[in-house]
Amino acid sequence: MTLMLKIVENTVLKQKPVSSSQLSAEDKHSLQRGTELELHSLDRLQEEKFYIRVSLAKESFQGKNTWYAFTPHVQVIPSMVKEVQSCSTEIVKGLDRQIIAEMNSIVPGILVSFDDLNVNLGPAVWPYLQPPAKRALERAIASAGDKMTITSAYRTIAQQQILYNHYKSRRCNITLAARPSRSNHQSGLALDTPYPSFWGKHLYKYGWRWLGPGDPVHFDYKGSGRRDIRSLSVRAFQRLWNKYNLNDKIAEDGAYGSQTAIRLNNSPIEGFGITIGEFRVLRLSQPYMQGEDVRKVQNALVKAGLTVEIDGFYGPGTVAIVKQFQQQKGLTSDGVVGPATLGKLGF
Ligand SMILES: [Zn+2]
Repeated sequence: MTLMLKIVENTVLKQKPVSSSQLSAEDKHSLQRGTELELHSLDRLQEEKFYIRVSLAKESFQGKNTWYAFTPHVQVIPSMVKEVQSCSTEIVKGLDRQIIAEMNSIVPGILVSFDDLNVNLGPAVWPYLQPPAKRALERAIASAGDKMTITSAYRTIAQQQILYNHYKSRRCNITLAARPSRSNHQSGLALDTPYPSFWGKHLYKYGWRWLGPGDPVHFDYKGSGRRDIRSLSVRAFQRLWNKYNLNDKIAEDGAYGSQTAIRLNNSPIEGFGITIGEFRVLRLSQPYMQGEDVRKVQNALVKAGLTVEIDGFYGPGTVAIVKQFQQQKGLTSDGVVGPATLGKLGF
């Protein structure tokens, strides 16, 4: 399965996230409900609540293949880590952002971006390193006096899970992938560059070491100030999961076992609590999810003959009623409102 944008209401794709009356004809494109477009990638912007930026894999409209889509009118498929079959891990960036933020909230400043250095980054690269590794990289780049191309640096536990799934399913020509939390790219101390013979001597001076001919593009930082953060990435995910799944809490022990693997695979690629389409996936979280989508679900439950307060908060009372509804309809009674439950509610 590839990443698809499904149009659920007649809509207009836009070059800027503004009302379509403010845009000229070449900066907008109308699409009919039911249209499906294959995406190369999508990006959610911090400051834009109602738009996602999508880059189309096949079509272009008015000669452009990057557009803003109005989220209440669209749905992005797949939505869970375990459903990802595309070979690029770029599509999990929304969840990645939340995991990195959570790691930095547990240990402030443990991962820093190096996109301010003189580097050329591929689209799926997360430019994060531990601070001593970044400082050493900065010196190596200055010593070379050249721009450095980097094709891989930090890999989140979600990206590693996707690669591991590909490996298990023999997809994407991946012949070997470490279990999540085991990869050296999850250390914040690793990078790949396609020009190792040029960069090797500069990196070497500042504590970076070439892995060797078995993986010729790979370097690890072996200098001072390193920390092992691989269990931190697991703990960050566990904490994130628990914040959004109060009725399905797991141990925050930093150990990647089957309980964590199941939750990671069931996590939304766009991140928790984010609207893609008209409805978020509703879960019991802290603070409670609140909004018009919750209100609509509560209304539908009342119409289905159940008793629930229509207050727009997805709290324990509503969850209990949702579980009751799910049981009546033969669904998994987990209190999480996703596509199957929405369907039974008539949406
Ligand atoms: Zn590598």
